Formats: sequence, C-alpha cells, structure tokens
Amino acid sequence: MTQVLEDRSTRRAPQDAPQTIIQLQQVSKVYPNGSQALIDINLEVKRGDFLFITGPSGSGKSTLLKLLYGEERPSQGEIVVDRDAPDRLRGDRLSHLRRRIGIVFQDYKLLPRRTVTENISFVLWAQGYTRKEIARRLQPALKMVGLTHKSDCFPEELSGGEQQRVSIARAIVGTPPILLADEPTGNLDPDNSWQVIKILKKLNQIGITVIVTTHDESLIRLSNHPVVQIRDGRMSSVRY
Ligand code: ADP
Repeated sequence: MTQVLEDRSTRRAPQDAPQTIIQLQQVSKVYPNGSQALIDINLEVKRGDFLFITGPSGSGKSTLLKLLYGEERPSQGEIVVDRDAPDRLRGDRLSHLRRRIGIVFQDYKLLPRRTVTENISFVLWAQGYTRKEIARRLQPALKMVGLTHKSDCFPEELSGGEQQRVSIARAIVGTPPILLADEPTGNLDPDNSWQVIKILKKLNQIGITVIVTTHDESLIRLSNHPVVQIRDGRMSSVRY
C-alpha cells in the first residue's frame, strides 16, 4: 500500500515545502431552512497534516466536511481543496475532485449484500479500473487495515470495528491524497476507536492529509495532533 499510496499522496513542492492543500476563507453556510451551520470559518491545512475537528453535536462539523467534498455549497467565502474550488465544480469535474478525497462515515455505509472484497473494489470498478489494477490495489488496502483474512466475509459477519476498517480500506484504495473521516469512531467502543485512529495515523505517516471530526475528547488527548473546535458554527483553535 505504501508504495501505491506514495505515488500520489506524498508529492511535494520542489523545495519540499509543505503546500496548502485545503483552505477556507471567511466561509459561512446557511441552509435553505435558515439554519446557520457555519460562520466565518478560516482554516488552512497543509499537505501531510493530521487535524482533529471537535465540537458538540450540531455545531457544524459534518457541514464543514461536506463543503470540502462538494456535497454542500457555502453561502459565502472561498474554499480550495487540492487546487480546486469544490463549490464551482459540477459533473465530471466534481467527480474528479472527489476521487482525490477518501471519505469515512460514522455508519460505515457498506453494501450489505457484498463481501469485503466487493465493497472495497466497487469504487474502483465504478471508476473504470481494470480487473488487474483492482487486484493490485486490493491486497495492500486490506493489509493496511488488518483484514486480509476477512476478505470474503459479508458486513453482517464483521464487528463494528472491522466494518469501519473496511470502510477505511474502501476510502483509500483509490490512493487519494486527502482522507476525511466524519465521526469515524462514533459507534465504536474505546478499543476499536483507538484502533481506527491508529490506522488513520499510519495513513497520515505515509503522506495522506487526514481530517477527523470527533466529539470524543479522550481520543484527542491520546493523540498529539492539532485540534480545532467548532461551537455554534464558529471555529477556534484549541491546539495548533
Ligand atoms: P455536527 O456534524 O457538528 O453534528 P452538522 O454540520 O450536522 O453538525 O449541523 C450543523 C447545524 O446545521 C445544525 O444546526 C443542523 O441542524 C443544521 N443542518 C445540518 N444539515 C442540515 C440540512 N441539510 N438542512 C438544514 N439544516 C441542517
């Protein structure tokens, strides 16, 4: 996986200076029903960073990630993700940006009638990868999350922690430079939560820029990574 991932994710500027990979400038989001989810957010993330976004439920964490992968559009402000503006992209160009962003959700979102292998390969297959290329990428992704021995299982045969690890493998099998994880440990016990965080740290060590939302303060204390907090839509830096 390391080699496959390093192909793209660790690309550096000529002088090896960390480049900005994500930038938000004065970003606000008001949903059509009038709900003000984000207010004047400024954030800069460098290539290779690992950032926690914390804050209580309803504070705007998911909305922020949705703006990054173009699921929602800002009401105001500028967003740049890997040199593109997600809110200005449509159709193929938005799909192209999304291929550079792996996404992990709290509820895994696995296909119940598909095996682990099928769940992970599906994305590549949908993107037109050849069978040979899919096979080349599958094993390293499974190994990265420690699930080689579960490749033929169906999701219901796995624990919650294992299902989340499958969803991480699915998110990274396309070697994205960015990984967004929205409350990835929200349904897991402390041991499984820590295992998930350790995998995300490992991915970060091979160059992937990782952003994780969580309201679990203990996970944040255990990790020595920058933390920003969102409260009522406003961001403040906790440890940066
Ligand atoms: P968090 O991820 O921190 O729990 P969210 O980003 O999901 O917070 O929500 C932030 C605020 O925006 C909340 O008040 C929520 O009710 C509101 N919100 C989220 N999604 C929508 C939506 N699709 N339509 C209207 N309001 C929304």
